[in-house]
Amino acid sequence: MGLMDGKKCLIMGVANQRSIAWGISQALHREGAQLAFAYAGDRLRDNVLKLAGTLETDEEIPVVACDVQDSSQIEALFAGLKERWGGLDVFVHSVAFARQEDLAGAYSELSWDGYALAQHVSAYSLIETSRYARPLMETAGGGSIMTLSYLAAERVVEKYNVMAVAKAALECNVRYLAAEFGPSNIRVNAISAGPLKTLAASAVKGISTARDLMEERAPLRRNITQEEVGNVGLFLASHLSSCITGETIYADNGFNILAM
Ligand code: NAD
Repeated sequence: MGLMDGKKCLIMGVANQRSIAWGISQALHREGAQLAFAYAGDRLRDNVLKLAGTLETDEEIPVVACDVQDSSQIEALFAGLKERWGGLDVFVHSVAFARQEDLAGAYSELSWDGYALAQHVSAYSLIETSRYARPLMETAGGGSIMTLSYLAAERVVEKYNVMAVAKAALECNVRYLAAEFGPSNIRVNAISAGPLKTLAASAVKGISTARDLMEERAPLRRNITQEEVGNVGLFLASHLSSCITGETIYADNGFNILAM
């Protein structure tokens, strides 16, 4: 018996085998969940199909295109899942994007276009996708929505500029959605993960320095692994976290508690 037997989970944000979303997918699959994947852009389609193909299952795994900047693709994704599955138990939102020039440089020089783009993809998209996930989860009697954040939402992290304010908005979205969806037994949480070398992280200059600092200073004196974040995702997806909603849970070996 797995923790997630019979649970239907939509994963958005697998780009390759290093993606945090892939770590969460593997943990959910290990515990018996039934998965579907949403990816953005034709470039990633083959990657996601290949990774989905490595999961041993008798069920067909839906792999669907969904760019969160296109509302019609979001609507179609959830309409397709409704038709196929009826309900939905878990939605993993592991999506972020900003232009490189809006991450480094002077914060006071941020352009509205760059600001709006990062907010749209990285923060607003949680609201829009959750809106469609809600009725499917209500059909299932409740559900768990999770997203991925970073400490820069609260503390100043160099070269994270436009994504910092997007993550701050994302964590606020988590609280407001949790308050609204709670009466439907739908939980909404964020995982604030420590630095991991992924495709998205490669856009942030200084990821290697951040990882060195983790080893040197984090209370547990090491970096986190993709598998560890995957297990936190599994916890938030499962009934083991049934009384937790609206929270940002740190998966960072304790780094966030440090002042100096
Ligand atoms: P990743 O590059 O593997 O995942 C980012 C995903 O966002 C990709 O799959 C990409 O296709 C998707 N995406 C970008 N624009 C999109 C759009 N318009 N529509 C739909 N999807 C889109 O990198 P990752 O590190 O696994 O990132 C996943 C999440 O984790 C992000 O929110 C990121 O900010 C967050 N996070 C990462 C770290 C880290 O150090 N890697 C730390 C904390 C939080």
